[in-house]
Amino acid sequence: MKKIQMVDLKGQYQKIKNVVDASIQEVLDTTAYINGPKVHQFQKNLENYLGIKHVIPCANGTDALQIAMMGLDLKPGDEVITADFTFAATVEVIALLHLTPVLVDVDPKTFNIDIEAIKKAITPKTKAIVPVHLFGQCANMEAIMEIAKAHNLFVIEDNAQAIGATYTFSDGRKAKAGTIGHVASTSFFPSKNLGCYGDGGAIFTNDDDLAHQLRGIVNHGMYERYHHDVVGVNSRLDSIQAAVLDTKLEHLDRYNAARLKAADAYDKAFKDHKDIVTPFREGSEDNHVFHQYTLKVKGTNRDALVKHLNEKEIPCGVYYPIPLHLQKAYKDSRYKEEDFPVTTQLVKEVISLPMHTELEDDQIEFITSTIINFINDHK
Ligand SMILES: *Cc1c(COP(=O)(O)O)cnc(C)c1O
Repeated sequence: MKKIQMVDLKGQYQKIKNVVDASIQEVLDTTAYINGPKVHQFQKNLENYLGIKHVIPCANGTDALQIAMMGLDLKPGDEVITADFTFAATVEVIALLHLTPVLVDVDPKTFNIDIEAIKKAITPKTKAIVPVHLFGQCANMEAIMEIAKAHNLFVIEDNAQAIGATYTFSDGRKAKAGTIGHVASTSFFPSKNLGCYGDGGAIFTNDDDLAHQLRGIVNHGMYERYHHDVVGVNSRLDSIQAAVLDTKLEHLDRYNAARLKAADAYDKAFKDHKDIVTPFREGSEDNHVFHQYTLKVKGTNRDALVKHLNEKEIPCGVYYPIPLHLQKAYKDSRYKEEDFPVTTQLVKEVISLPMHTELEDDQIEFITSTIINFINDHK
């Protein structure tokens, strides 16, 4: 059996090495390192893939979120609702812009932002909602867009974990994750479903005016050379990363299918085990692209299981071990413990298993049998 990796970037690279290397070499030969033709080419190809009018490449997924919020012209004190159970980047940029983060609980099955909790958190100061498509599964966008419409709020999709997922509306209409809200952000961090070989990110929107605004913000607020109309940032995707991404974009659907196949195999092995809750899948099969495969373990010491897996050289992760509302940086006297029962429980129960495009059957068999044996032996 091959050594198990949490994410097997090397195995994936080896299969596309010739094409990726040639594409990187092309950038080196032309020395068009910044804003070169590769960046434009990737932008166009991603726009086509997503079915969206504008992709604005930038330096990373955290910048993408920040720039999206800057583009919406939110003002200090405006309240932005997001999930308590997510990576800190989401709440970090809200705070950084002197907006007021309002954390709310998540759904116990999907781990995504809870619709009733959003409704409860809305005040006259609320200006935006940031749903995160956590672990690769689309949040309930239909309900979120309805709430946003009723209260005149912006929706910023944090699509760092779900690129390639497809959301299906109740009338059967389909749309790619990241193309439903007013604006979306994504990350091309190497371990993401579409990852480059360094840092990268992008913002998506169908709004022409907003896209224009965003293109200036990523480039020092310039719409005309050396005319700085707004306060911007410097956030670029470099040409070498764009070359990698453009090559990998062709494989994205296949990569996501490989993740789904691994998830199916995990599900099958854990099926009917009463202490293991496999990831709940909402809607159609393409709604989830399994950035992470995350179990809930009941009646077992999760941390002891993590230790045991480490001893067996099975990598795993706890995403996320601490609710954001309990993090020192984001504490707020408005938060009441009883408002976060789900997140509080999840942080004790979740464990994410190796998930990538190169998982092999014998590896999955070893991972699942090791977990089941441990849980059965520790009753
Ligand atoms: C990875 C991630 C980000 C940040 O992306 P970077 O490219 O690392 O800045 C933001 N939000 C979520 C949900 C993420 O998973």
